Amino acid sequence: MLRTHTCGELRISHVNQTVTLTGWVQRLRDKGSILWIDLRDRYGITQLVFEEGKTDSALILLAKTLGREFVIEAEGLVAERLSKNDKLPTGDVELRVTKLNILNSAKVPPFTIEDESDGGDELRMKYRYLDLRRTPVRENLLLRHKMARQTRAYLDSLNFVEVETPVLIKSTPEGARDFVVPSRIHPGEFYALPQSPQTFKQLLMVSGFDRYYQIVRCFRDEDLRADRQPEFTQIDCEMAFVTQEDILNTFEGLVRHLFKAVKGIELSSVSRMTYADAMKFYGSDKPDTRFEMKFVELKNNTPSSPLEGRVREVFSSRVLDLTSGKNFNVFDSAELVVGICAKGCAEYTRKQLDELTDFVKRPQVGAKGLVYVQYRSDGTFKSSVDKFYTADELKKWAEAFQAQPGDLMLIMAGDATATRKQLNELRLLMGEKLGLRDKNKFAALWVLDFPLLEWNEETKRYHAMHHPFTSPKQEDIPLLETEPGKVRANAYDMVLNGSEIGGGSIRIHDRATQQLMFRKLGFTDEEAKKQFGFLMEAFEYGAPPHGGIAFGFDRLCALFGGSDSIRDFIAFPKNNAGRDTMIDTPSTISEEQLKELGLIIKP
Ligand code: ASP
Repeated sequence: MLRTHTCGELRISHVNQTVTLTGWVQRLRDKGSILWIDLRDRYGITQLVFEEGKTDSALILLAKTLGREFVIEAEGLVAERLSKNDKLPTGDVELRVTKLNILNSAKVPPFTIEDESDGGDELRMKYRYLDLRRTPVRENLLLRHKMARQTRAYLDSLNFVEVETPVLIKSTPEGARDFVVPSRIHPGEFYALPQSPQTFKQLLMVSGFDRYYQIVRCFRDEDLRADRQPEFTQIDCEMAFVTQEDILNTFEGLVRHLFKAVKGIELSSVSRMTYADAMKFYGSDKPDTRFEMKFVELKNNTPSSPLEGRVREVFSSRVLDLTSGKNFNVFDSAELVVGICAKGCAEYTRKQLDELTDFVKRPQVGAKGLVYVQYRSDGTFKSSVDKFYTADELKKWAEAFQAQPGDLMLIMAGDATATRKQLNELRLLMGEKLGLRDKNKFAALWVLDFPLLEWNEETKRYHAMHHPFTSPKQEDIPLLETEPGKVRANAYDMVLNGSEIGGGSIRIHDRATQQLMFRKLGFTDEEAKKQFGFLMEAFEYGAPPHGGIAFGFDRLCALFGGSDSIRDFIAFPKNNAGRDTMIDTPSTISEEQLKELGLIIKP
């Protein structure tokens, strides 16, 4: 190699050695008689010095021609620094340069390539290859690399086999739109890019592979919300001859292994919660369990059976009402009155309370309002509904909330499903405000027993909540005919700090059940056969019971890296509009290509 050492390597023990370094000029400080250069490579930064009287003057002149991001090769003598820099691992030494070779010049970069850059998002994405020179960005990718290696190490140790599956396939429904690729050889026909390798991994189980995994790219053409990528990576896994319990244990093991090996953290065991409880107590199927602040219901008037044509609740209601009949119409007319108790927040000012109300009224949250009850330290109550409720009545609420003097109760009301969702947002906000969502603390949770089907108002039919290959709970199968919305699935999600990091299910493995499932989803037998005939046929040739899971690898890396953005953990991500501004895509194709593909673009 052109170098003898990296820029992160030299220590006091190297003093008096002659070494050669290569790298990029991060910074030049020209003090006239002395010139310092911070030389950077992937491994670190080393200071180079050129000093009048000690360095050859021609060399000094050459050094003065260098600019930021020039690529150089420098030979010199390692010397102990007079003023040491304890922020740099190499900060005890510097290189007194004796030979300098400019390997390449560089234009002035469009933003500073340092830990804290002055470049905005757009600019850094357009010049992503420069952004990737920055230490924090590089470290994210190194973390990702470590995560992938440790994933493989764990799964390999358990006899999983990594098998590649095709990218040009036919639609696999995971609930999103397919990206499609026109076929030139078969005009008018299209491939779909996989939303996941779902059907292939199931076929591998039929083939007897028994334990499969793949760190694999998936493609979903969804409307882009913040922090979604049209292409993303999954740790995709499948096992044969297993129960749900086996899968939960195996993949809890994976996550614990990753925490241990990558972060040195002993993750406490993954707790479990049913979907019904998650919705009831947290208003979310991915509750952040780093903190409690469970929902408390003051009134629950939800019907015990799903409303006509709509999945309301998968749990039955219990009659409860601590609010009605006091002329407070908001609560009287509500299906659900539910709240949270914010410990120690009773002394919130009017302004702080107004801010909370404004928060829940934001269109993204969509609530009509917020009721508060301050349980003051002197044991008295002050609330926004004092006109309607006596202190005794508020006391009963406080008991329901297990509130103590000093606590603040925040209560919302309305349609059950919507209100729970809104209160979930408020709970997360309060968790944030109270410092309960520490990025360095990790709480993992299995959410179990998801509903099999989900009613879609737009299409007026049931959709698979997970995907159509998920098996219903044996005991719920009769409900498929009578109350499909109440059928529970053998499906599970893993949630980490309020983010869904993985999900899977025990699959259907016989043709009859699979066919029934397609019918429930509104497929005619013809359509089902056309799209998934291959899978149903495979089930007739000795399909073992099987199940699996997939983890969102980008998200997992982001969580491990303490970031909210998956983009930071992808080398070349798309922006929020699904564009790669660096290579400038999507882009048009030539007339000739269109013609070859038999495509006409409508104006
Ligand atoms: N294919 C599923 C998904 O992408 C995961 C699974 O069921 O294994 O979400």
